[in-house]
Amino acid sequence: MSDFETIYGGCICGSIKYSINSKPLFTQVCHCLDCKKLTGSSYVMNTSIFDNSLEISGELLKAELTAGSGKKCTHYFCKKCGVYIYADYEFAIGRLTVRTKTLSNPELFPPQAHIFVKDKDPWINIDNKDICHNEMYDPKTAWPKESLDRYKKYLETN
Ligand SMILES: [Zn+2]
Ligand SMILES: [Zn+2]
Repeated sequence: MSDFETIYGGCICGSIKYSINSKPLFTQVCHCLDCKKLTGSSYVMNTSIFDNSLEISGELLKAELTAGSGKKCTHYFCKKCGVYIYADYEFAIGRLTVRTKTLSNPELFPPQAHIFVKDKDPWINIDNKDICHNEMYDPKTAWPKESLDRYKKYLETN
C-alpha cells in the first residue's frame, strides 16, 4: 500500500517495541464490564490489525481468558512494566487487537465505533451517536467498505 507508513508503538518501560506494517482495519472503544475490569478503567480502545502485520520485540506475559462471546482470548502484556499491548481473540480470524493508546501516534486512529454502550459509565458523553452500538455491531454495516474489502481479500489469500 503506497499511502501507508509503518506504525510504531510500545510499552512504558521501553522493553516492548513493535511495528505494524500494513494499514489497520478498524478502531473501536469497548465499554463492556470485562474491559473495565481488564483495564481498571471505564473503557478500552482497540485497533484491529492483520495478524501478519505485527512485529514485536521484548518479553511478553501471556494471559488466557474467555471473552464475553464464550470464545478464548489471549492477552499480551509487557513482562516488566505490565502495560497491556495486544490481544488475540479466537473469533477474530486473521486479526489481532492492539491497544490503541500504546501506539506512538494514537491520534491517527480515533474511534470508529463504541460498543457495549449499554454498560457505559453515565458520566461519559459521546457526541457522535451514529457510531454507538448498544452491544456488538455487524462489521458489514459498521466497518468502512475499504476495510471490509481488504479483510475479505486477506482471508482469501492467507
Ligand atoms: Zn514495559
Ligand atoms: Zn469489552
